[in-house]
Amino acid sequence: MKAVTTQQMLEAGAEIILANTYHLFLQPGHEFVSRHGGLHKMIHWNRPLLTDSGGFQIFSLGHGGVANEIKGKCNCNRPKTLLKIDEGGAHFRSYVDGQRCYLTPEKSIEIQRGLGADLILTLDECTPFHAKKQHTEYSMERSHRWELRSFQEFERHSDGRQALYGIVQGGVYEDLRERSGHFVAEQEFFGQAIGGSLGETKEQMHDVVSMTCQYVCKTRPTHLLGIGGISDILNGVKNGIDTFDCVHPTRLARHGGALAHPDENDRKEYINLKNAQFSEDMRPIDENCSCYCCQNFSRAYIHYLFRAREMLGGQLLTIHNVTFMMRLAREIRSMIRNGNFSEKTHFRLPSQSK
Ligand SMILES: [Zn+2]
Repeated sequence: MKAVTTQQMLEAGAEIILANTYHLFLQPGHEFVSRHGGLHKMIHWNRPLLTDSGGFQIFSLGHGGVANEIKGKCNCNRPKTLLKIDEGGAHFRSYVDGQRCYLTPEKSIEIQRGLGADLILTLDECTPFHAKKQHTEYSMERSHRWELRSFQEFERHSDGRQALYGIVQGGVYEDLRERSGHFVAEQEFFGQAIGGSLGETKEQMHDVVSMTCQYVCKTRPTHLLGIGGISDILNGVKNGIDTFDCVHPTRLARHGGALAHPDENDRKEYINLKNAQFSEDMRPIDENCSCYCCQNFSRAYIHYLFRAREMLGGQLLTIHNVTFMMRLAREIRSMIRNGNFSEKTHFRLPSQSK
């Protein structure tokens, strides 16, 4: 969220927020959050909160850009902070002060208990897309053992206020996804998340999600980790995904990108307001959008804010992008209720409704 308050998120229609365990663990620390009475109190949010296990960041930052690799882009210039993974957990160096840290499944649950989110995740090991099948299988089996340990630690202290999600691993390999899907379904998790490598391209990602969804427990909520493009969400919903999380809408906003509905031939899902073409454009970003930004400000004004490096630009675009995503989700839910959800025909529908 970075640029906005929880009150602004509430006004944009948000119903749940995700907080990063890894970043909060390193700074300011879960004990600090605990002393505030938990995340809900500290950030002034009395609706649902979800925390991840911290694993994804350790592996993605640690390997030097696996986050990008998992989403199909290779970026190996980052310093590596992951020191060693063993059966117990992951040894890594803090990017804040260089200290050595050790994240185990038990520690991840302890941190998430301290943070106090409503929905929490088991620790898993994330493998990059270029990992060979043998490596992916070995890592999936370790993830399963870590998930059992996470569950045991969760049960030991559970007072019913938090619910735990298991994670389905297995990379791009169907037999592994099937095994992992069944393994997670056999445990008494509240919900399940789909994690790990989804392939190298958008098309492959859609195929892996669709293939994996066949093997998850249909009566539990299913979350797709770290995915937030419009077409990716529509594809996920088609396959039965219930919830998504992604930095995309808010990160894009801070870099001048406003989510918009692409025209028929354009697959790009946003416009970049830093572009000179918007310098005299007096229209709102989207005339059908009810957000504070579109109701009151022009594209040209926001273009100027970014040109002048005013932080208000990122704030206004964050409000628009979150409002956009919430409206998309409402439209999708309404189409599902009416029995007319289709990935293609309704792609442009949200912009036509108020
Ligand atoms: Zn708007």
